Amino acid sequence: VSTAAAQIGVTGLAVMGRNLARNFARRGYAVAVHNRTPARTRELVDEFGGEGTFVPTETAADCVRALARPRCLVVMVKAGEATDRVVEEFAALLDEGDVIVDGGNAHFEDTRRREQQLRERGIHFVGTGISGGEEGALHGPSIMPGGSAESYRALGPMLESIAAAAPDGSPCVTHVGPDGAGHFVKMVHNGIEYADMQLIGEAYDLLRHAGGLEPAQIAEVFADWNRGRLNSYLIGITAEVLAHRDADTGLPFVDVVLDQAEQKGTGRWTVKLALDLGVPVNGIAEAVFARATSGHADLRRAARDLPGPRPDATAVGGAEFTRDIEQALYAAKIVAYAQGFHQIATGSADYRWHVDQGRVAAIWRAGCIIRADFLDRIRAAFDAHPDLPALLVDDTFAKALGQAQQPWRRVVATAAQRGIPAPGLSAALAYYDSLRADRLPAALVQSQRDYFGAHTYHRTDRDGVFHTRWAEPQ
Ligand code: NAP
Repeated sequence: VSTAAAQIGVTGLAVMGRNLARNFARRGYAVAVHNRTPARTRELVDEFGGEGTFVPTETAADCVRALARPRCLVVMVKAGEATDRVVEEFAALLDEGDVIVDGGNAHFEDTRRREQQLRERGIHFVGTGISGGEEGALHGPSIMPGGSAESYRALGPMLESIAAAAPDGSPCVTHVGPDGAGHFVKMVHNGIEYADMQLIGEAYDLLRHAGGLEPAQIAEVFADWNRGRLNSYLIGITAEVLAHRDADTGLPFVDVVLDQAEQKGTGRWTVKLALDLGVPVNGIAEAVFARATSGHADLRRAARDLPGPRPDATAVGGAEFTRDIEQALYAAKIVAYAQGFHQIATGSADYRWHVDQGRVAAIWRAGCIIRADFLDRIRAAFDAHPDLPALLVDDTFAKALGQAQQPWRRVVATAAQRGIPAPGLSAALAYYDSLRADRLPAALVQSQRDYFGAHTYHRTDRDGVFHTRWAEPQ
C-alpha cells in the first residue's frame, strides 16, 4: 500500500476488476483501486496487498486524486446502466486528456455513444474488449481497445504489459480502431466462440451416438486432436470435461449436466447485428439458436415422440469415422471464422474503423477463449493478402477445405440419416456450397418477388432494371 501517485486506477473490484488490478500491480504499476462498496477494496488490499503497490481509495474523488496525469482509469463494473453511472461520476471529476477505459462487456453502440459524449468534453473514452475470464484477467487476457489513437499512446504500453503473450512473444493487444471498434470485435469474438463450442458439441454428439464411443473414449479423441491442427483451449477443456466423472454418482460428468445451455447475450448481439449489416453468419446464428432450442424444455417434451430415426448403438465405423469428424469439424471451423471475419470487415467498412483483420487474429492467439494455433494461420492469411475477399479462398484454407470435402459431406449425411442434429456442421456446409454455386435459386426468388410485388429484376444478358407484366398474356 502506498500513497504515491498511481499510474492506473481500477474501479469495480468484482472478479474481473480485482484480477486486472492485481495483474497491473504484479507488473510493477502502482494501482489506485476503488469500488462502490468499499469493503471489497479493503478485502483486495488485505488479501493481495503484498503482490505490488495498491492505493486503496474510498470515493471516486479520492481515486481521481490518487492518479498521476494524464489519468487512466479502468472501469470494470456491470455492463449497462451501472457503466453509465460510474462513467458519469468519474468523468465529472476528470480533466481534458484523461482516459476512461471501459473493460466491461458493453454493446459497441453504447460505447460509441459514450465515446462521443466524452470526446466533446476532451476525455478519451476507450471501450475495450477483454477476453479470458477471471484467470485471463489475472495472468494475461486478450485485450481489444477501441477509442482514439492518441489514448493508445498513454494506455498501450500498460495494456501490452498485462496482456497475454502470443507464442511468438508479442502481446495480445492492439489498437483495434476508433470509438466502438474494440467492443465490436470482442462481440464477434464471442459469436465465433459460440460457433466453435457448438461445433465441438456436435462432434462429441456424433462420436457418441453414431460412433458408439463413451465420454472417456471421446476425451481421448479430443486429447489426440489437441495435439494436431485443432489444438486450442476449447478442444483442451473439452477433453478434460469429457474425462471427468461426477463425484456423487460416478457417472460421466457430461451425463449429469442438464442439457440446456445458457447465454448472456454477446452471441445474440453478433447475430442481430449481422442481420442489420446483411452479413451471412449462419454458422454463428445456428450456434445461438441451438442454445435457444436446448432451453425450450416444453417444446422439446412435446416433440419427443415425433417420428424419425433414433440414435442406436450400431457404430458407423471406428477410426475412419473419427477421422471424418475431425475433417468436418476443421472445415466447419474455418467457415465459422470466415463468417466472423466477414462481419468484422463489414462493420469496419460501415463505421470507417479500418480494422486490420490480421492484427485481430494475432491478438486472439493467446489469452482469450478461442485461443488456438489456428489463429496464427488466419493471421498469416491476412498478412499475406490484407484484402483477402474471403478467408476461405486463402491457399492454406482452400486446400484444407478441399481435403475435407468427402468426409465433411459423409458426416453431415450420417447426421441426417441417423436423426442426430448437427446444425452447425450442416449450416457451414450449406454456406460453403452456396458460395461455390454457379447459379443460386435466388434467380427464382427474385422472379417471385417481381411476380407478386413488381419488385423488378436484373438480367444476366443485359444491363438495366426489368419488370414482367405477369397478369397480361405472355
Ligand atoms: P459484475 O458482476 O458484472 O459487476 C459487479 C461489479 O460492478 C461490482 O464491483 C459492483 O460493485 C459494480 N457495480 C454494479 N452496479 C454498480 C453501480 N450501479 N454503481 C457502481 N458500481 C456498480 O463483475 P465481473 O464479473 O467482474 O465483470 C465486470 C465486467 O467485466 C462486466 O461488464 C462483465 O460483463 C465484464 N466481463 C466479465 C468477464 C467474466 O468472465 N466474468 C469476462 C469479460 C468481461 P459492488 O461491489 O458495490 O456491488
